[in-house]
Amino acid sequence: MFLKRLELAGFKSFADKTELEFVQGITAVVGPNGSGKSNISDSIRWVLGEQSARSLRGGKMEDIIFAGSDARKAVNYGEVSLTLDNSDESLSLGFNEVTVTRRIHRSGDSEYFINKQACRLKDITELFMDTGIGKEAYSIIGQGRIEEILSTKSEDRRGIFEEASGIVKYKSRKKEAEKKLADTEQNLLRIHDLVSELE
Ligand code: ATP
Repeated sequence: MFLKRLELAGFKSFADKTELEFVQGITAVVGPNGSGKSNISDSIRWVLGEQSARSLRGGKMEDIIFAGSDARKAVNYGEVSLTLDNSDESLSLGFNEVTVTRRIHRSGDSEYFINKQACRLKDITELFMDTGIGKEAYSIIGQGRIEEILSTKSEDRRGIFEEASGIVKYKSRKKEAEKKLADTEQNLLRIHDLVSELE
């Protein structure tokens, strides 16, 4: 699996629809200071579900929508689509190419799509769990992140190994199941109370 294409429209400094094609191997993005290089990596984390505006170097999420310049007006929504070559079927969706899209409106609402089908953020998060691609995964190493990984708490370092070994999906499902079980136990207690009140 590899990153094949990135399409940005209305995202940060990319007012017009901009398409970046990647090939297998190393791609370097070069350009003068402030030309939008980091905005490209921000867009990848954002489309993968990043929810923290601060980690995208903004105050609130709407700040990622092109805010206008001397030459042109602001736009009303921002959209990023990321396409992966999936011919090795790393993602078990049955498609050779997988495109995830996120769109945000000035209201702050986000919409998510997998291969143009509307979906939930959870579907995108689960799709990339254990692949190393998720927004928190090790495929995106930002400035200073290596130091952070090396010096951070041992539980956080363990998280990186868990993602690499492919058990995050199961841990997350276990957590969900435990929550459902706890909710059901609470409901049962409530029912017992009601029954004893009626008796
Ligand atoms: P450096 O080499 O200094 O790290 P860079 O090439 O990584 O720079 P970025 O940080 O990606 O540059 O881009 C910064 C530019 O993006 C700034 O000019 C900023 O005004 C512009 N920018 C950020 N958010 C928006 C927005 N919402 N609307 C318009 N422009 C924006």
